[in-house]
Amino acid sequence: MNATAQAITDIKKTLGKNVYILGHHYQNDAIVAHCDKTGDSLELSRCVPDIEADHIVFCGVHFMGETAALLARPGQSVHLPDLSSSCTMSMMTPAAIARKVLKQLTASGRKITPLAYVNTTLDIKALVGEYGGGVCTSANAGKMLAWALKQGDSVLFLPDKHLGRNTAKKLWLSAEDWHILRINKTGLADGESREIDRPLLLWPGCCCIHTRFTPDMIAAARAAHPGCRILAHPESRPEVIERCDADGSTAFLIKESMRFAEESPGSTLYIATEYNLVHRLATRCKGRCRILSPIRSICGDMAKVTAKKLLRTLTDISKGKSAPLAVEPAQVEPARLSLTRMLEICA
Ligand code: SF4
Repeated sequence: MNATAQAITDIKKTLGKNVYILGHHYQNDAIVAHCDKTGDSLELSRCVPDIEADHIVFCGVHFMGETAALLARPGQSVHLPDLSSSCTMSMMTPAAIARKVLKQLTASGRKITPLAYVNTTLDIKALVGEYGGGVCTSANAGKMLAWALKQGDSVLFLPDKHLGRNTAKKLWLSAEDWHILRINKTGLADGESREIDRPLLLWPGCCCIHTRFTPDMIAAARAAHPGCRILAHPESRPEVIERCDADGSTAFLIKESMRFAEESPGSTLYIATEYNLVHRLATRCKGRCRILSPIRSICGDMAKVTAKKLLRTLTDISKGKSAPLAVEPAQVEPARLSLTRMLEICA
């Protein structure tokens, strides 16, 4: 154990039950080693209301800390080791522009239900709650989209156009049923209003980490290891998902890897998702099966959380100096509404 890791272990022992560390699966091993719980967005959101510690340290990106702050108990504080760790995809939906778009789409009286991927800012979650919509994760996007489609004339899915289409396909929607909006600073670009009768309107955002995977990489993997199995996260492009054997949330990818290691010893499994997770699964399954990644696609936002920053946060908490994540009070209720809607529908 290096000096930083030892110092984190020591200070965590001193803080005892006063601190609880959450870590997303995309964190590297040096962080995961200190987490009380690791999980994907849905798993981590679900566990927040049960945490009793006064301080929750969230090793992940900014929107995850905001989500935890929304679900935390009164008096609990949420701390991020690096406040600048903003998920790039979540920044692709500025709330002011989303508000303009919703206004334009509903101007003729149509009921538009916004459905926001959890990878969005607090402002977007509040806007979605205000318009009667909900939040989803990659694990429950199908269930939430099915719900949203029943609520009105169209669904505005934001921000991930890939997840939106991959989910819609599983619900048997076809390319005629959706439209990727063209958006500029004024809201909808000229001519977009012609398209609003489609059931699914997609915000033109994406995750640059998962968009790096291409159909050629999938073909190269099959050529290198004939008979291999290939899984992908649904933030990947639809043309990648089409060429894989299965796709699903981070929890699904982990479960499938464990099943594969158990049932197909000696075989090769490729996983197209963030590299830290693939690396951890490869280590866990070593000796049973080979787990590979098409490329090393690392999320730079997640990587901003380092062991040294975690140590500094814990030290500040122990000295009463750590500034907890501040959430805008006016946004709390509508944002919480959109989140609790998801938790209730998917209970
Ligand atoms: S992997 Fe993509 S969606 Fe996840 S935090 Fe990084 S940029 Fe955001």
